[in-house]
Amino acid sequence: MKCPSCKEEISESTDKKFRPFCSERCRSLDLSDWFNERNVISSNLSHSED
Ligand SMILES: [Zn+2]
Repeated sequence: MKCPSCKEEISESTDKKFRPFCSERCRSLDLSDWFNERNVISSNLSHSED
């Protein structure tokens, strides 16, 4: 299994609470990417509605 964020191989010793990410840092990075994308979409929508 590889971390979706940094593509590092996740080892058995990796804390399971971060899965499928290798660390809290990668998990939050991925969430922020997703969140930024959502914000772009919603801002475009609100702009066209205005
Ligand atoms: Zn990672």
